[in-house]
Amino acid sequence: MKRTKIKDLLNTTDFGQEINVQGWVRTFRNNQFIAINDGSTINNLQAVVDFTNTDEAILKRVTTGAAVSVTGDLVESLGKGQRVELKVKNLEILGDSDPEKYPLQPKKHSLEFLREIAHLRFRTTTFNAIFKIRHALAFAVHQFFNEKGFVYMHTPIITGSDAEGAGEMFRVSTIDFDNVPRNEDGTVNYKEDFFGKSTNLTVSGQLEGELAAMAFGEIYTFGPTFRAENSNTTRHLAEFWMIEPEMAFFDIHDNMDLAEELLKYLIRYALDHCGEELEFLKSRLMEEEKQKPQAERSEMDLLAKLNFCLENDFERITYTEAIKILKSSKPNQKKQFKYLIDEWGADLQSEHERFLVEKHFKKPVILTDYPADIKSFYMRQNEPDELGRKTVAAMDILFPGIGEIVGGSQREERLEKLEQRMHDMHIPVEEMSWFLDTRRFGSAPHAGFGLGFERLVLFVTGMTNIRDVIAFPRTPKNAEF
Ligand code: ATP
Ligand code: MN
Repeated sequence: MKRTKIKDLLNTTDFGQEINVQGWVRTFRNNQFIAINDGSTINNLQAVVDFTNTDEAILKRVTTGAAVSVTGDLVESLGKGQRVELKVKNLEILGDSDPEKYPLQPKKHSLEFLREIAHLRFRTTTFNAIFKIRHALAFAVHQFFNEKGFVYMHTPIITGSDAEGAGEMFRVSTIDFDNVPRNEDGTVNYKEDFFGKSTNLTVSGQLEGELAAMAFGEIYTFGPTFRAENSNTTRHLAEFWMIEPEMAFFDIHDNMDLAEELLKYLIRYALDHCGEELEFLKSRLMEEEKQKPQAERSEMDLLAKLNFCLENDFERITYTEAIKILKSSKPNQKKQFKYLIDEWGADLQSEHERFLVEKHFKKPVILTDYPADIKSFYMRQNEPDELGRKTVAAMDILFPGIGEIVGGSQREERLEKLEQRMHDMHIPVEEMSWFLDTRRFGSAPHAGFGLGFERLVLFVTGMTNIRDVIAFPRTPKNAEF
């Protein structure tokens, strides 16, 4: 008999049909009611066993986590909590689960505990909801760009250029650590290595993305990126996924418009397609917030927060304006910031970003035109301001509860200016010749950005730790599973 998915059963009114369902036992009550989940939905199907006519030995094996196959008639449920239930005629155990050893019990587990058993946590309602939303968002990313005619580029994961991430890259090598080939001066001889040169895992697909944009016009990448930065925060992973569109003939304003449109499209997609999951996570969050003092609770619930984001234009201000606001802000005056804002030119810390977004504007903010000194070499150089201060056409999008979710810029398309900047920043110009060819042959204004996928999933799910929105998080001192 063909298996039916629980998702397709729960809303049916087609009662009386004989159905087979296969899934995992969540709970078994009164030797009679099995709550079965098959992963197709966060909701369980109630299967009602006629225990007087079922082998005692089989009933004993209906334990939390066991895989079962049940066949029976679908009937309208008289009990509370579900519309339909399955009257079981045949119950088969597909795989046992020893209740003494199975770590997931039918009770609430902490997220910390679940992180330790990340290989099993998908079987909880919370993680089912999170990963359904993650899936929907990933799908929507492709749909958005496909509708706009962007080309999906797969940029390399192993890269021979370290222009961007020097110092925070993971080395890729087949050199035997116990027998390192050396040059005469004692340095490592990478000519002996697999690629005949030093290689790393990519920190971004942007540079290769730019090459493609200068041929296809509009492209995007969506793949894993790796950063060996030692930041053990709730917003950083050593392996994360990034969406990086790159567009020829776009200036910084077109770039901001596209980024805002993309973010709103993705949030709308989740609201339209993941209603049940979001509703569940909203309630979960409200339960969690009850533990907190009133002052620390959010003003909006998850759905209200997502809708608010759709209904309001993101605030667009320059770095220089932001510094003015921060300098005269209460937490700065009262020395409550860990890093006090004193002079123009300082990099903003997440406490500053969050003040702007959560306290001052109370909505997403796009910060533009950062000091050149704190930004990457490829960003387009603005005319110095009236005080002679140098800025670049950068744009970062800051989200409530998240901080930076997007980092982007208009790119420097003028060969001489770019070369000068690379020179000043000690970036090997010769090695980057392939990149500079875009500026040598038919250079054109262009722009792009990087959207951190896990930070987006964090925002949409309302989760607070990035380790809970990627299947198997990689963080400093942790690469389990
Ligand atoms: P941050 O200042 O938060 O460390 P960044 O300035 O290093 O971020 P970019 O290099 O601009 O980030 O990367 C683009 C986007 O990728 C960021 O806006 C963010 O959404 C995401 N991102 C960057 N680093 C990480 C990380 N370690 N883990 C998860 N997402 C990240
Ligand atoms: Mn950034």
